[in-house]
Amino acid sequence: DKYKDGLSKTRNSFTSRLNDLVANYRTVDEDFFEELEEIMIQADVGFDTVMTLVEELKMEVKRQNIKDTEGIRSVISQKLVEIYYNGEEPDELLNFKENDLTVILFVGVNGVGKTTTIGKLAHQFKNEGKKVVLAAGDTFRAGAIEQLEVWGNRVGVDVIKHSEGSDPAAVMYDAVHSAKAKKADVLICDTAGRLQNKVNLMKELEKVKRVIEREIPDAPHEVLLALDATTGQNAMTQAKIFKEATNVTGIVLTKLDGTAKGGIVLAIKKELGIPVKFVGLGEKMDDLQPFNAEKYVYGLFS
Ligand code: GDP
Repeated sequence: DKYKDGLSKTRNSFTSRLNDLVANYRTVDEDFFEELEEIMIQADVGFDTVMTLVEELKMEVKRQNIKDTEGIRSVISQKLVEIYYNGEEPDELLNFKENDLTVILFVGVNGVGKTTTIGKLAHQFKNEGKKVVLAAGDTFRAGAIEQLEVWGNRVGVDVIKHSEGSDPAAVMYDAVHSAKAKKADVLICDTAGRLQNKVNLMKELEKVKRVIEREIPDAPHEVLLALDATTGQNAMTQAKIFKEATNVTGIVLTKLDGTAKGGIVLAIKKELGIPVKFVGLGEKMDDLQPFNAEKYVYGLFS
């Protein structure tokens, strides 16, 4: 299945190290937990998550009177899922307006896979029978508009664009009107991914959001941040900056297939409190999956 294949790098490194650990330490003791911590941290699971996990594992080991390391495997996966949800109900994947236009704003630094993700998502929506319009709001990066158009053609959806260098807010204005006129179900908006100047980033995102809000008061309905899983701590830093700049409602973690450190999914949720809504598991149109903690953890441990 997609999760298992997409996570194969993480699975191979993570589970092989876990297998070694279980084989080397026959009994669950302090040394075992220390090495487990090490393995988890190296898989980018994140310090806070690892500490919580180990604490809860220790309690569970006592409660169930687990002596041998083999018995602890299933407890680890069960606890990881619990830590991810943190007592909350799994939330709706996306906040959708029934019989009305849903606006999704995409933010993220250049190169993380934002355009590709927009294309993949447009493809999914279209397969669900939804009418999709894309807005080429990255007017800054050379080639960004054309790249979105390529995806638009590939998927078979309209792309609203202005010329390079034009005001992204004007693109959004046109896009909202066009999507409404076309009676579209979903408008997905690309934005520029400059992080060099935080103040400019904030201003531009605010302006873009203001234009959308003026046309549809409760929009954008989702603000999705694309992060590259292969960049580890960098991705975490970007997430913090974007969280300050705008109200990010969900994360799309791209290129999870290209890293052995897939534990970052767990770290992001715990450290930022923002749910991971989708994961990118490859470059093709179908390689975007709704994030599901059970499937993810199962993908790692089986
Ligand atoms: P943008 O600058 O953020 O719009 O990034 P792009 O969408 O142009 O993607 C940058 C590169 O990452 C491209 O070569 C994509 O094919 C690749 N890419 C995007 N998502 C994924 C993914 O989930 N897995 C892999 N392996 N590659 C991806």
